[in-house]
Amino acid sequence: MASHDHTHAHGCGHDHAAALPRLLLEAEDLCRARGVRLTDQRRAVFTALVRHGHPLGAYDLIEKLRPKSGRSPAPIAIYRALDFLQQNGLIHRLETLNAYIACPHTHGAGEAVVFLICEECSHVEEASTSGVNMALDSLATQHGFVARRRVVELGGLCRACQSRRPARSEVHTP
Ligand SMILES: [Zn+2]
Ligand SMILES: [Zn+2]
Repeated sequence: MASHDHTHAHGCGHDHAAALPRLLLEAEDLCRARGVRLTDQRRAVFTALVRHGHPLGAYDLIEKLRPKSGRSPAPIAIYRALDFLQQNGLIHRLETLNAYIACPHTHGAGEAVVFLICEECSHVEEASTSGVNMALDSLATQHGFVARRRVVELGGLCRACQSRRPARSEVHTP
């Protein structure tokens, strides 16, 4: 780890908190435009997810949001905030990890998102291409299926972890 200069605990080389002011502004704009409220609880959950940058389960979030003295927030309140944030496209739920992650808004609303999940450092990259959209849509159409959620999750090794552990990497680049 000495060769990497990390300002946070995950070691993936990304400064997740740097995007917080922009994402909070975008979240406020979006809520205003939709006539919904970004309550303190919802804002706190969103902020925790953006700061953390990596997927967090509901109970990890409850732990993070617990005040130094006092009681933890009620699980139901956290789940409601997560539902709200998810419905408004501010966060995503990663099905395979049963965890949540803030959306960096690099894709259009309703666009299929491919999550590239690093199994080593738990960094998650969001990727999207119209090709994935079209392939999923035509697949659904063939089955007479109406898709409401389009989520694709790939598990593997991120670029940083591949270069850090070449011996254990399954991907060999010549
Ligand atoms: Zn997203
Ligand atoms: Zn990694």
